[in-house]
Amino acid sequence: MAGISASSAEGLYDEFVKAGLLITAGPVGAFARGAVFEQVLEAFDALILRIADHEQVETMTFPPVIDRAIIERTGYMESFPNLCGAIHSFAGSDREARAIPTRIAEGQAWGDLLSPTDVVLTPAACYPFYPTCRGTVPANGREVTLRSWVYRQEPSIEPTRMRAFRMREVVRIGAPDTVLAWRDQWRDRGLAILRSLDLPAELDIAADPFFGRAGKMLAAGQIEQKLKFEVLIPILPALPPTACASFNYHQDKFGTIFGIRLLSGETAHSACLGFGLERTVMALFRTHGVDPAHWPATVRALLWP
Ligand code: ATP
Ligand code: ZN
Repeated sequence: MAGISASSAEGLYDEFVKAGLLITAGPVGAFARGAVFEQVLEAFDALILRIADHEQVETMTFPPVIDRAIIERTGYMESFPNLCGAIHSFAGSDREARAIPTRIAEGQAWGDLLSPTDVVLTPAACYPFYPTCRGTVPANGREVTLRSWVYRQEPSIEPTRMRAFRMREVVRIGAPDTVLAWRDQWRDRGLAILRSLDLPAELDIAADPFFGRAGKMLAAGQIEQKLKFEVLIPILPALPPTACASFNYHQDKFGTIFGIRLLSGETAHSACLGFGLERTVMALFRTHGVDPAHWPATVRALLWP
């Protein structure tokens, strides 16, 4: 069956809604997912897990909120202040609380009556993991798989740019050579997985969307040192292909910040890869059509073995 052939980003969103894959649910970039969309998402996630699974791999599940201190210590607010979703709540008196419904009834802003809590919405699945590694890691380092809802404040009419979405990550901690070789191996493997699903996937060097003028220099350095790769797949009509998976080498950044050491006493290095689960699912529907029953047999066999 042919893929979807909408001619604009909004048109593609409408096609997904018409097919029941997505359900409009209020705020832009925060739509709901239908049952078939979820079946494909779970099947794709299971495929990655089958490939990632071996004896040394640990599995962890963190809630979609993390300690504000992690965000502060990793420099997230320097690099991506515009993407952070911080959680605020009311912490005042009974009398002060009455101002909130009054303001709402009057159609006034009421956010200033709230104060920051000690948590923010998780911006990347791997962030909560690093602080748990403080101290000396085992001789062969550590490898963990994580799946999480993450939040980024980037409202957009492009269905591929969500504010809340799920990321499947695999993270490796260890000696520099080991970690870099692992990142390169997963980069090639990630591309092969997406191509095995008959997706027109291409690899490219990439940079994070660092904020502001200083951010441009950080991004240039990241590209120059080949710290980040992405697998890109055409999903949006008339727009450049979309990053569906990312492969990052952090060098000793998290090791230094969180005091993670090798047996030798040296600071550990780390790398992570993240599959954007919704984006990959959208790439599948876009390429193969809205009904998985009509997808190529080889693709179905990989997703539903
Ligand atoms: P780091 O951990 O270093 O912050 P990361 O690899 O965990 O990086 P990104 O590279 O920013 O995080 O994102 C990982 C994947 O998440 C991307 O390849 C993409 O598929 C998906 N993704 C990113 N932003 C969005 C978004 N707004 N909506 C949907 N999916 C997204
Ligand atoms: Zn990561």
